[in-house]
Amino acid sequence: MRLFVAICLEDAIRDALCRASGALREQAQFGRFTHRNNLHLTLAFIGETARLADAKRAMASVRAAPFSLTIGGMGRFARRGGDLYWAGAELSAPLAGLQAQVADALRKQGFSLDDKPFKPHLTLAREVRLSDPPDENALAKRVPPMEMRVERITLMKSERLQGKLTYTPLYHTLLEEQA
Ligand code: ATP
Ligand code: MG
Repeated sequence: MRLFVAICLEDAIRDALCRASGALREQAQFGRFTHRNNLHLTLAFIGETARLADAKRAMASVRAAPFSLTIGGMGRFARRGGDLYWAGAELSAPLAGLQAQVADALRKQGFSLDDKPFKPHLTLAREVRLSDPPDENALAKRVPPMEMRVERITLMKSERLQGKLTYTPLYHTLLEEQA
């Protein structure tokens, strides 16, 4: 199975992201837009594995307090065949610490993760082709700043069911105030 660890989003945040990505869709000649249910912030990508119990063990070892996640702005990663558009998330100390802890816990369980620096983003669309792509400043204004309290992280399974990309939560770790 294909696994990753994510922060799932509140409905109000999903609504705002859908508004922003809807506007983009209207301008685009082509794009694969993230379904509302699938919007998330990836903390670690595990990839193909059969070791679900080890992944759960890593999740269970994470100790972190709830924190406030700041989302806002839109950006683009240039790609051949069409760009990836994302909404930004602030790389705050609690988010950076949580991501590092999740990655360390997974590595301790024997998973090899890529060691690219963590760039928190919420993918809105892939393979986007726009005849007149907005400049960086215009893009940044398309998602208003928003905050949500992060109280859990989730181990997700990613699969195609009848051709449809489907993410299923398999395990949660609650974030709790640390003594
Ligand atoms: P698809 O690959 O079908 O376009 P997807 O990328 O959303 O869809 P997955 O490839 O299963 O689905 O990825 C699950 C999550 O992990 C996504 O947030 C994706 O961006 C992220 N991810 C996938 N591969 C990597 C990677 N090599 N490094 C970091 N994050 C990754
Ligand atoms: Mg992918």
